[in-house]
Formats: sequence, C-alpha cells, structure tokens
Amino acid sequence: MRRVYLDNAATTMCSSEVINEMLPVFNAVYGNPNSLHSFGREAEAIVDRARDKVAKAIGSKTNEIYFTSGGSEANNWAIKGVAMANKSKGKHIITTKIEHDSVLESCKALEKEGFEVTYLNVDETGLVSLADLMHHIRKDTILISVMMVNNEVGTIQNIKAMAKTAHESGIIFHTDAVQAIGAVKINVEDMEIDLLSMSAHKIYGPKGCGALYIRNGIKCADLLDGGNQERKRRAGTSNVSAIAGFGKAIETATRDIIVNQQKIKKIREYFLKQVTEKIAYTKVNGHPYQKVQGIINIGFEMIDSESLLMMLDMEGIAVSIGSACTSGVAEKSHVLKAMNVPDEYLKGSIRLSFGKAISKEDVDYTIEKLVEIVAKLRSISPITKTGRAK
Ligand SMILES: *Cc1c(COP(=O)(O)O)cnc(C)c1O
Repeated sequence: MRRVYLDNAATTMCSSEVINEMLPVFNAVYGNPNSLHSFGREAEAIVDRARDKVAKAIGSKTNEIYFTSGGSEANNWAIKGVAMANKSKGKHIITTKIEHDSVLESCKALEKEGFEVTYLNVDETGLVSLADLMHHIRKDTILISVMMVNNEVGTIQNIKAMAKTAHESGIIFHTDAVQAIGAVKINVEDMEIDLLSMSAHKIYGPKGCGALYIRNGIKCADLLDGGNQERKRRAGTSNVSAIAGFGKAIETATRDIIVNQQKIKKIREYFLKQVTEKIAYTKVNGHPYQKVQGIINIGFEMIDSESLLMMLDMEGIAVSIGSACTSGVAEKSHVLKAMNVPDEYLKGSIRLSFGKAISKEDVDYTIEKLVEIVAKLRSISPITKTGRAK
C-alpha cells in the first residue's frame, strides 16, 4: 500500500544532509563541549558553528541564541522568564487564543502566580487585529506574545507592526516562530523582535532540539539551574549532535524558502482545485493569501473529522485534526473555534501539511481516497446538510 505523510506540521523526517551532519558527532566528536581538553574543544566548535548558523538564519547576533530541548521549552522560557524578571513593572501579559499549547499553558501557569493574561481574539481568517492589540495594552503590560505562523491553519501574523506597537509602550515582544522558519523570511532586527522560539524537528532536523533568541539587554529569568552551559543561562550538557543537525537544518531551510514555497504552492493549488471540484460542501479554513503554503486546513460538512482521519489512515494517508482527545470526548480545535468556523465545518475539519518532498502521485492518491471516503461517510452520516440530525 502507498503511504503518504501529510503531517509535516507535526514533525518532519530528518533530511539526509542533516543526518550526515550529525553522524560524526556520535562517534568521532563525542567530547563534552564544556571540557577543557581537545575533545571538549572540538565539540564546542561544533556547537559554536551551529549557533552561528541559527543566528544568521534570523539575523541576530550569535551570542543571542540559546539552545533548548525544542520549541516548547523555548516558549516556556520566554514567557515565564520575562514574566519573572519584569514583575516589578507589572503583571499583565497579552497573547492570543490561537497559540500553541506551550504558550497557552505557560500563561495559565502564570495566572496561578497572580499574573493577568489577555487572550486576544482573531478574525475568521486567523488574524489578530492591531487595533484590538492596542486597545488591550495597559500601563502594567510587560509582555506581548503572538505566534508568527499558526500551526493549524498557516495564517501569518503582522509581527513587525505588533512588535513596533509593543515597543512604543515599552513592552517586550516575543514570537513563537516554530512554523515560520523555512517558510517566511525572518530578521529579528528589522521586525523588532525581542525573543523568538525555534524548533529543529519541524524543519527536517532532529527532535528534542530548538533554540530561544533573547535580544541582548532584554530581562529574562532562567528556567534551568545547574552547570554553566549556554553562557550560564541553561544548565545541562549540550545535545551536540542534535545541535549540529539543527544548524544544518535551519541553514538549508532558510536558503530554500522561495524554492520550497513555490513548489508547494503549485501542489496546494492543484489539490484544492481538485478537492473542491470533486467534493461539495467544503470550506478552506485560514487566510486567503497571508499564509504559509504547506498547511491546508479544510472542513467537510456532514463529516466527523476523527472518522475521516481514521479511514484515511487505513489507506496509508497521515493527516491530523487539531484536537486532543480527553477521556473519550474529542475536544474541537481551539484555533478553529477562535476563528468562529461554523459548527458544521468545525466538526469535519482536518489538517494536511505538505512537506518539501511532496509528489503529484501522492497528491493524486490522496484526492482519490478523500473523494471515496467522504462520499462513504456522508452516505452513512446521521448529520444532514443543515447540520441537524437526520
Ligand atoms: C511544534 C510546535 C511547537 C513545539 O515545538 P517542540 O519542539 O515540539 O516542543 C511550538 N509552537 C508551534 C507553533 C509548533 O508548531
């Protein structure tokens, strides 16, 4: 059976150039980068080289990059660190309703510590309004955190305008750029970003590795105490091989943004044209043009998204739904809910995320199976076109 992986927003395969970068570190350069001997210095040189590559990819200084265990740790560090280091100035934070759980849950943890958090709404395309952001800024606001690209619908926010607005009121600005790397050109100087989260495994690098950019001079407390790694700011022996892989991955991803986006755009448009021609009552969720090409979120009326996911899986096609299943009750996507996606589409929305190696054959196979499965599910669906039970 053909197997088609359309879940690249969840994770990507390690590319061969990344693996080739990592392999020597396991056997030839196994020293501890903190050691003072030549074995240590060789490992340290690898970490330094990767740090240069990450800095170059986002336009920061090398000494503003701190390696972490991934995007979730970077988000936790940025939000809790800024909150703790600036609480004497105020205890109000602004974020959005469509952030990744690592941002939302960090904010919730801070609420328990006496911080106040405003969760901004988005419009039906997934965009935060600048006017709305301005309206919620208070004298005691210390941090604004807005993701650059949403992982469920692909909408790209107007980060530069929001960062500028934050700075006009002396507020620190953080962005979760995990889904933006490799899809959007980023320059932290030009975009006035103070802190930015990254992850390796969304850009063909290894899992369990990422970084936080912290602009020099920004007050941000540290999370991990212990050794003096990462300039005494993040204890724990560096994951040298993963860091080497991350350096390669971000260098490649940044170099290939235009080529990859153009390639995926063609396939995306072909896919959506076919699907909307062959299947009635569908709705594409997200922004019509301010979006990354790889993420497609599409709703099918009279369909239950979990059944659709499972039947596609039986045909070897991997997609996702933006929902977490707790105690047997499927929780619908907080992102689609915030976007006010109508109920009949909310129930039947799935995410397909295309990778850079996607082929026309894979897409044709997916279209064929999707048409079959949707027809089958609709024929047995207890829901009618109007959303009422039959
Ligand atoms: C995957 C993801 C994260 C988490 O990154 P990990 O490295 O898996 O911890 C954070 N934010 C967004 C938008 C993501 O897509």
